[in-house]
Amino acid sequence: MDLRDSPEEARFRAQLCAWLEENIPADPEPAMLAERWPYMRDFQQRLYRSGWIALSYPTQVGGQGLGPMEEAILSEELGRANAPTLLPLGHLGRPLLRYGTDEQRRRYLPPLLASDEIWCQGFSEPEAGSDLASLQTRAVRESGAWVLNGHKTWTSYGAFADFCLLLARTDPDVPRHRGISAFIVPLRTPGVTVRPIVLANGDEEFAEIFLDDVRIPEANMLGRPSDGWRIAMDVVNYERGAVETGYLPKFERYLFELAAVARTRAREPDRATLLALGEVAAALEVLRMHCLRTLSDRVSGAPPGPESSIDKLLMTAVEQKLTALSLGLLTAATTPGRAEWFDRYLYGRAGSIYGGTAQIQRNILAERLLGLPRSPG
Ligand SMILES: Cc1cc2nc3c(=O)[nH]c(=O)nc-3n(C[C@H](O)[C@H](O)[C@H](O)COP(=O)(O)OP(=O)(O)OC[C@H]3O[C@@H](n4cnc5c(N)ncnc54)[C@H](O)[C@@H]3O)c2cc1C
Repeated sequence: MDLRDSPEEARFRAQLCAWLEENIPADPEPAMLAERWPYMRDFQQRLYRSGWIALSYPTQVGGQGLGPMEEAILSEELGRANAPTLLPLGHLGRPLLRYGTDEQRRRYLPPLLASDEIWCQGFSEPEAGSDLASLQTRAVRESGAWVLNGHKTWTSYGAFADFCLLLARTDPDVPRHRGISAFIVPLRTPGVTVRPIVLANGDEEFAEIFLDDVRIPEANMLGRPSDGWRIAMDVVNYERGAVETGYLPKFERYLFELAAVARTRAREPDRATLLALGEVAAALEVLRMHCLRTLSDRVSGAPPGPESSIDKLLMTAVEQKLTALSLGLLTAATTPGRAEWFDRYLYGRAGSIYGGTAQIQRNILAERLLGLPRSPG
């Protein structure tokens, strides 16, 4: 398929670039989340108000009614323009669109897409990460309400969120994957305690969420009872996809930054540096080709599936290679930009954990795409 811009897409790209040139904040993105959060939210709200976000969502729920090509152009141009990081939307918005009732879509999607209400993802628990199906949080139906009890952890942006898309066990008597349901939990409900987890750098990016007899209306279930596993797999497939997350243009920009650093260090960079840069460039090219294949799947209407584990592995490899290379190039602690690259390096380590670890992605590839037998035990 020809993925070059059609005349309408080229026009769309040009208008977007003009908007970005006018609207990218002049001040750099603050390093600490407490200041970065309002900065990110403000930019995202302006994008939304100008019609540049939620492009492929239907207009009835606040989207622009466009398609995956426009979404891909948006993510390319945001990356190229070094725009502020966006708050995660797609992986939580898509399941609401797909499984939500009309009433749920009308109530929750417009403010989610506008970043007026913030959502988080309550899947992991202290004893349920890779083995998510072992989650222990319970939801029991009681006189017209669901009553939730349990403990979630590693919830990204939990301390800033208004709602949580949360998984809980509703039927303990069936095989583990089948007894799980998904819920829309307003975090200001009595019985919910959100406790931020402070990272080594002082950021409060994660939170633990404690649920003690939390009563939510029956209508707050997303999908039907026991749809939880299917919904969770949709969420993670969107979360893992390179086209969905728009990391490719960001990594391209990083590579150019590093090549520029290598050039300023020496007129003729040494062989080891050239080889390392070449290795990253090759890995990035593989990721780009894979993204083009994924984009053509999206254009032909296929939603993300288990092949998004390939995206996740390729993205993580590129990010970790790039950021490790940066530490070799920006050796002196006082080199301008080193602190930022060091943060990127540390955050890059998380790439092989969030959204399912690298080992879990390989298991998915082996079992679901290659059809290899499950390992015993
Ligand atoms: C930056 C970041 C953001 C996150 N955001 C969220 C969020 O918003 N919401 C949320 O719910 N969770 C979130 N998480 C949690 C994340 O989903 C879990 O950390 C992840 O699924 C791994 O689970 P775990 O930490 O319990 O590790 P474990 O499951 O205990 O795994 C420990 C190690 O054992 C390996 N392992 C486990 N099982 C297998 C197996 N079957 N085969 C091979 N190896 C295996 C793993 O690969 C890993 O190396 C986030 C994590 C990070 C790092």
